Amino acid sequence: MIHWQRTVTCGVLTEANIGQQVVLNGWVHKLRTFGDLVFIDLRDRTGLVQVVVDKQHNPELVPIANALRSEFVVAISGAVAARQPGTENSKLSTGSIEVAANEIETLNTAKSLPFPLSDEEQMTQVDETLRVKYRYLDLRRSRMYQMLQMRHRAVKILRDILDAEGFLEIETPIFTKSTPEGARDYLVPYRLQPGHFYALPQSPQQYKQLLMVAGVDRYFQIARCFRDEAQRSDRQPEFTQLDVEMSFVTQEDVLAIAEKVTAGVVKQLSDKQMEHPFPRLTYDESMSLYGNDKPDLRFGLTLKDLSDLAVQSSFALFQSVVEAGGQVKAVLFPGGASLSRKEVDELGAFCKEFGAGGLATIAVNGAGPSDFKSPLSKFFTAEQMAEIVQKCEAGPGDLICVIADAKRAVVANVLSRLRLEIGRRCNLRDPSRLAFCFVTDFPLVQWNEDEQRWDAEHHPFTMPRPEHMEYLETDPGKVRALCYDLVCNGQESASGSIRIHRADIQARVFGLLGIDAERQQERFGHILEAFSYGAPPHGGFASGIDRLIMNLLDEPNIREVIAFPKMGLGYDPLMDAPSTVDADQLRELGLTITKKAK
Ligand code: ASP
Repeated sequence: MIHWQRTVTCGVLTEANIGQQVVLNGWVHKLRTFGDLVFIDLRDRTGLVQVVVDKQHNPELVPIANALRSEFVVAISGAVAARQPGTENSKLSTGSIEVAANEIETLNTAKSLPFPLSDEEQMTQVDETLRVKYRYLDLRRSRMYQMLQMRHRAVKILRDILDAEGFLEIETPIFTKSTPEGARDYLVPYRLQPGHFYALPQSPQQYKQLLMVAGVDRYFQIARCFRDEAQRSDRQPEFTQLDVEMSFVTQEDVLAIAEKVTAGVVKQLSDKQMEHPFPRLTYDESMSLYGNDKPDLRFGLTLKDLSDLAVQSSFALFQSVVEAGGQVKAVLFPGGASLSRKEVDELGAFCKEFGAGGLATIAVNGAGPSDFKSPLSKFFTAEQMAEIVQKCEAGPGDLICVIADAKRAVVANVLSRLRLEIGRRCNLRDPSRLAFCFVTDFPLVQWNEDEQRWDAEHHPFTMPRPEHMEYLETDPGKVRALCYDLVCNGQESASGSIRIHRADIQARVFGLLGIDAERQQERFGHILEAFSYGAPPHGGFASGIDRLIMNLLDEPNIREVIAFPKMGLGYDPLMDAPSTVDADQLRELGLTITKKAK
């Protein structure tokens, strides 16, 4: 072939091109021989096109075509022609045409692949670690390419919206000092001063605040964050956030931008239903109605507090639980009255797994609120039972699930999990919905029972609500913060806060978190000092880009939306990282490796 370079890409050819001479470049997706005809499905990132080699017209080309193998890289020239009637493929955008080849040049050969790319169904059987080890092959699949494209588009939309709103995109360092976000740091040893380490940023939190001190006013970054924490299927040791910070703003201003960028991406890239403006709940409301701070609003089934009724009952357990400051609460299982005894027992075991002492149920029978079956009926009057049924909005055929515990956190945890389980069993999650909501007014700190100290609920730079400032030292558990999460379908999608911009308040919060004056100077002296040079009031948020793409694509596995993900325990099978290093490198860094005691 005199000129091997393509004149057109594979996936764009249509009937409009019939009669044109084209040169195509791509990979041999599939090869089939039928008597005098050889068919080559040729693939590039734009799609597939069928190339046909016809022995009658081009006998010398047949052995060349037959020598091709899957994933050879080829240049093919030929003429676009209509397919024979009846041989069209409606699943392909190019399905009504084919290219009659008159020249084929192999640009590169390929070994036989560790997994076939030509059969999407078979791909579900392929071990994921193998796919990640050969990611450069896995990414040749159109499904993966579409994911990369979706990511690219989402980020472009985010950039465009923020640019229009006057934000500047600024890079902040990867080699830095520890910025706490509640995880362990990844450390990088510093060769020039053995024993000194950089920390990889858990987020650009401090830098973005320093940019506000610098007067940048509106900053954003598509930021890589590094957190050494327990791996889960929705977590990666490094992940990408849209990181935003703004000066002279209130919480409302920040929420407006968070909503604008999120809704903007969703609207432009999917046809998912979304309630907009996003509904809002305070942390306390969310805990009370859903038992957690990440409510899945794709369905209702809010929790009902029966504590008032429970104290009036003759059930000593309920009374003692409420007297001890605990709660008796319930969730409805629609249609659950028909569960067998064994199924109800299994539900009870499910609750016990999450810390409940047991599960009490009320099955509402066909005749309505006064016709029920429940072990609780002997402790309540008929009117009280009817009131419970009414309060739980239970109808004929429903099951009311009641949990009581002296610890409110146990009641919340068990019922929130039970609610989600019921939602799953009853198929209540509408897959066409993205149920966003803002949760606001988080507690500033939470008590760490193990370490006997207060930990920051978000991070230590969060501003307490001004009216709660007085409780910082006397009753920290009472302090609510100017702090918010964006939740989508029961998962955290973004989080942020109005920040502390005054050195005195920051020092008080560090003090509350048990960071004494000396440690404050050592770890955060730079930011405390910056705050003493005229730091403006500011706030911001960070939104998980990987999660956003997962939501847009209905993809439960975060690795599927990342070009080169890590597998379990942070292992990268493609690069075989982490790996050992040469003794010389260790010596230079002043490091010796000791075996970890088991
Ligand atoms: N830095 C926080 C995080 O990564 C987000 C924020 O407060 O802006 O979770």
